[in-house]
Amino acid sequence: MASFGIPDDVVMHVTESVVLESPNEHLIQDQPGFVLDFEAFKKFLVEHGCHKSAEYRFDARVRDPIVEDGDLVGVRYNSDQEVFGEIIIDATGPAAPLAKDLGIANLERENHAIGIECLFEGVDLNHPDFADLTDAMMLRLDHKYAPGGYSWIFHTGDDTAKVGICYIQNERYQENAIHGRTVDGYLEHWLDNDPRFENARQIAESPVRGSAHIQPPGSMSTDSFMAIGDTVLSVDPVWGEGIYKCMKSARAAAMTADRCLTRAKDTSAEEMEVYDDLWKEQVAPRQDRRLMIAKLLYLAPNERYDRLMRDLNKLSRDTLSAINDGSKREIAKLLYPCDLSYFWKYWRGT
Ligand SMILES: Cc1cc2nc3c(=O)[nH]c(=O)nc-3n(C[C@H](O)[C@H](O)[C@H](O)COP(=O)(O)OP(=O)(O)OC[C@H]3O[C@@H](n4cnc5c(N)ncnc54)[C@H](O)[C@@H]3O)c2cc1C
Repeated sequence: MASFGIPDDVVMHVTESVVLESPNEHLIQDQPGFVLDFEAFKKFLVEHGCHKSAEYRFDARVRDPIVEDGDLVGVRYNSDQEVFGEIIIDATGPAAPLAKDLGIANLERENHAIGIECLFEGVDLNHPDFADLTDAMMLRLDHKYAPGGYSWIFHTGDDTAKVGICYIQNERYQENAIHGRTVDGYLEHWLDNDPRFENARQIAESPVRGSAHIQPPGSMSTDSFMAIGDTVLSVDPVWGEGIYKCMKSARAAAMTADRCLTRAKDTSAEEMEVYDDLWKEQVAPRQDRRLMIAKLLYLAPNERYDRLMRDLNKLSRDTLSAINDGSKREIAKLLYPCDLSYFWKYWRGT
């Protein structure tokens, strides 16, 4: 928050702990967090950009890149409007119209994850059958509610909370899914069956929806072009932390643009590749391991999640941290012979 100068007035609630839930167990960790008012946050970004001389064009749907004599020089938007620039950056999330056109993005359907989130009041945050979620961000692994993914409750003050689910949509991850049930249907199912929502009412007008691809990024730049944020899968594949990661990717792109334009101007693919290096080093180091953790985690059955929580509860904070960072040694200690079947399933699908 401080490193990006995010003001307090876009923060809905400061949380103090993270709770991981499985169907019958849970783990509580002290870990500060910030739940943002996403609309207010986006307005702040625009206002802040305007103060820094950025120019915004609203209702402008980018169609395709403008290429002249083999060089990328601008973009076409809406029907026939054009805008030109020395460097073009695609920041359209998974839509990626420019990155796809330039052959940078290769977002695969089978790696597609979808999510939905709504704001509720009347949530019982301290229900006797569950961990206390006051001032907490809770992430739940439970195929009953989010097959092939996870669901969450983020406390936003008083009895209000953001409640959401997301999951990988392909067949291998949907073995536990109910045929024909949509992401909205799953959220409804959780709301109807979890006693914490017995008196909950939706307070925001419309839910937040979105998607991401859980796959390794390919190239992220080419001549006079970079792709940032979820256009190049910056979101953390395990826990869906996207905002911080995407802003870090934007900062890496800004550093690259600065470098390419302030010395002898050179926006060749070779120079733009500095961005790819910064991304791998600073935005999402060890992304391949985190992708593997995510894919294996969401293949395991509910009973395995309970066992995992029991095991995690016995570990020190440092060990948990190493596991989250993808330490092979610490992860290996959590495995059992029965896990070979998920590895097999995972390898078959990669
Ligand atoms: C339900 C849900 C809950 C989430 N919760 C969290 C959370 O709690 N914490 C967290 O850190 N992350 C969370 N994330 C992830 C986070 O929202 C994303 O990782 C992040 O917003 C990606 O930022 P982005 O700028 O790359 O893309 P986006 O936020 O997707 O923004 C892309 C923008 O480009 C616009 N666009 C698309 N196509 C075009 C076009 N052709 N022309 C012009 N504009 C276009 C879109 O309208 C959009 O405004 C959540 C995601 C979802 C779906």
